[in-house]
Amino acid sequence: MSSPTTPRKPRARRGEGQWALGYREPLNPNERSKKDDNPLNVRDRIENIYAHTGFAGIDPADLRGRFRWYGLYTQRKPGIDGGRTATLEPEELDDEYFMLRVRIDGGAVTTEQLAVIGEVSQTYARDTADITDRQNIQYHWIRVEDMPAVWAKLEGVGLTTMEACGDSPRVILGSPVAGIAEDEVLDGTPAIDEIRRRYIGDPAFANLPRKFKTAVSGQPDVAHEVHDVAFVGVRHPEHGAGFDLWVGGGLSTNPMIGVRLGAWVPLDEVAEVWAGVISVFRDYGYRRLRNRARLKYLVKDWGAEKFREVLEREYLGRELLDGPGPEVPAEPLDHVGTHRQIDGRYYVGAAPIAGRVSGSTLVAVAKAAERVGSNRVRFTPQQKLVVLDVPENEVSTLGAELARLGLRTDPSPWRRGVMACTGLEFCKLAIVETKARAVDLVSTLERRLADITGEVSAPITVHINGCPNSCARIQTADIGLKGQIVTDADGNQVEGFQVHLGGGLGLDAGFGRKLRGHKVTADGLAGYVERVVRNFVAGRKPDERFARWV
Ligand code: SF4
Repeated sequence: MSSPTTPRKPRARRGEGQWALGYREPLNPNERSKKDDNPLNVRDRIENIYAHTGFAGIDPADLRGRFRWYGLYTQRKPGIDGGRTATLEPEELDDEYFMLRVRIDGGAVTTEQLAVIGEVSQTYARDTADITDRQNIQYHWIRVEDMPAVWAKLEGVGLTTMEACGDSPRVILGSPVAGIAEDEVLDGTPAIDEIRRRYIGDPAFANLPRKFKTAVSGQPDVAHEVHDVAFVGVRHPEHGAGFDLWVGGGLSTNPMIGVRLGAWVPLDEVAEVWAGVISVFRDYGYRRLRNRARLKYLVKDWGAEKFREVLEREYLGRELLDGPGPEVPAEPLDHVGTHRQIDGRYYVGAAPIAGRVSGSTLVAVAKAAERVGSNRVRFTPQQKLVVLDVPENEVSTLGAELARLGLRTDPSPWRRGVMACTGLEFCKLAIVETKARAVDLVSTLERRLADITGEVSAPITVHINGCPNSCARIQTADIGLKGQIVTDADGNQVEGFQVHLGGGLGLDAGFGRKLRGHKVTADGLAGYVERVVRNFVAGRKPDERFARWV
């Protein structure tokens, strides 16, 4: 013990598990699992061992870890209520079936691919399919025995599940209207294709500290503010169209808006710069504690200036050009409805409720698109889908066909603005039900708010999460709902939500306020949203947006 007069030696800062600073040990269980075996190797075991042994033969380290690198998670055993989620061991929550994500970079599929996605669902996934807010398709009820056949079908049309989950470079978000929109600065598709071709499945980036989310878009329509790395279209005064580089955004606990590095990146350098940013994350990311392992924590500690300097000096070997920030649209872009393309044809955006479709619906959408001469469909970060290249004289025919499939091209603001995560139906972390609740909420609001619907010019977004994670981006919704157990008026513990109000992206970029005591039971949800919306419509100034009014 030092005496009061002896100056204390500064205590050595505990390592954060940063490889670049020599911290390789000790490892937490996730880091150990990744070190023991490259997670990408699990594909071979699934095809050659587990597909034959079935669920019972799966090594637990593969089951709860490495399977994710191929988009596979065990789904929640039916019948376990949300109040027990935190009290059970993972194996007690595991069903013998899997959720499977199909990786769809830029959300872009051909109608041939879409039909195959639907057929796989019909054959192997009990006709389930959800459009996720990361432009993926998610199946349920998948058996490990069927995975070789599922991959054969998907890969036969150029689709993959590789790195759809796990501590890896996950699906790259891209504008659903890339290459056809009148108002995009440039088409980011070649950059997305190049990143995918060079780096997805590259062992050099298969062991990251945590997941790594990318967005590349020629316009601000992909929630770029909440990505680990994002490239957003901007026009440089001297060099023309290119991308503004953002890093360190992320939601979940401790949400953070990404920061601009002030750098301009031309289209043909995006893949190289992306590799530099992900390398900084791999080498300097905090691996010691999993809840501090996302890139946002490093960016917060370093700041934009240091991050850019390390990126340029250690990884790119050159300086990036300075550039401007993106122009922000007055309203968030969701591409719902009918819009003219640059070539004179139209794109038609349609809304299911909270992304819930089915394999049969997707097969039918593919056929409907082909009947009107289109062979391209895209999924959006708002859980919607868009049919591209529709001739003007076929727009109404297609709209009617989509409506028959439950996909509205003229949705109410409530259908348009609601998103929901997987929730209690299939997710092992969930505390409350979400998808069915979203369906109820939309139909109830359509009925009860019919008298003021015409007064709501922009959708009021309502995002529903089944737990404190933020798979449905609750902090950036006008009304964000975080699933938890709450106490009802009679003192019972029931499903409900903590409310966050006034979050947004674009002009309103910021996180919703978690109002003390603003908790609502699931049964009281529609009534709560109705009251808030009526107060907003009655109390706002002309043209005032919800996020500003709250
Ligand atoms: Fe599951 Fe929670 Fe994510 Fe919803 S927010 S999908 S309940 S982890």
